[in-house]
Amino acid sequence: MSTILMASQQDPVDLWRDSLAKEMPELEFRAYPDVGDPGDIDYALVYWAPHGLIASLPNVRAVFSIAAGCDHVLADPQLPPHLPIVRMVDDYLAAMMAEYALYGVLHFHRDMHYYRQEQLAARWSRAWPLYTPDTAVGILGLGAIGGDCARKLGALGFQVHGWSRGPKKMDGVTCHHGPDGLLEMAGQCRYLVCVLPLTSETQGIINSELIAAMPQGGYIINIARGGHQVDEDLLAALDSGHLGGIFLDVYNQEPLPPEHPYWRHDKVWITPHVAGELVPRSCAKSVAANIRRFEAGAPVPDLFDKSRGY
Ligand code: NDP
Repeated sequence: MSTILMASQQDPVDLWRDSLAKEMPELEFRAYPDVGDPGDIDYALVYWAPHGLIASLPNVRAVFSIAAGCDHVLADPQLPPHLPIVRMVDDYLAAMMAEYALYGVLHFHRDMHYYRQEQLAARWSRAWPLYTPDTAVGILGLGAIGGDCARKLGALGFQVHGWSRGPKKMDGVTCHHGPDGLLEMAGQCRYLVCVLPLTSETQGIINSELIAAMPQGGYIINIARGGHQVDEDLLAALDSGHLGGIFLDVYNQEPLPPEHPYWRHDKVWITPHVAGELVPRSCAKSVAANIRRFEAGAPVPDLFDKSRGY
């Protein structure tokens, strides 16, 4: 019998305990700070765990991130360097992220930003939406989440483009890759949706060069990480009119400070990092499946790759 230790600053411990018990009744569940004998722990399930906790578990075999990104695990300076880290890859998380991406695109595409202003001025006036089949959306990142966004935006009738690190083929999606591919894609897209992991290569990728490559009056939706965006470049492009609006879920500093211009900018729509939630009853299935793979010595597909940074 294996034992898992959960340590998270925000996730619901009881729901995780119940959900894992349903998926894997033979797994013993403990929650920090009730570690018991540290030598008993085989797996750690963490979100911003106290630094040094994982290093204090002498027999731990793998760390499960309670997030798609692993930045919170890697932030621990005492993390044993060779320990496998498993990303959270979950269909329901991808579906929630895709819901948000679709909402952001449709918000601008169906002129809801315009109607809000007209409503506040008590004006009955209409906008003329663009023809959807002539309108292109570009997805930055075509992984577990970006792939779902691409399929669903395609089902709504948009022309869908996607950008990845290496070459990719996806039905109904015009695929681009590499640095040149990004600008080539941006030049064709009225909407860009960012669902990239944050790495040294993608840090600050939503910058003046990318924005300038987009057609006049485009829109950006960032639901990945705040570090992808250069705030001054976004604000300058909104104020010059090159960008028509932005929808953001993530920020360079979270919580977003009260004095930040995003809060009161009439072309900016913001939410407090809520695009995707990790719902234990769904995510526990992926944790249990990956523990079974570890126990069977089988390959684990969702491992964080340190050389790529995601
Ligand atoms: P995946 O690892 O499945 O996919 C990542 C995609 O990004 C891949 O297509 C990959 O390319 C591409 N990519 C990575 N680096 C580059 C690069 N340098 N140039 C071009 N493309 C690149 O990740 P997920 O889809 O599971 O998650 C994506 C991100 O979404 C997470 O890392 C996290 O930051 C964010 N997120 C945000 C949430 C929120 O609530 N706001 C919730 C959940 C996730 P390739 O296919 O070639 O490998």
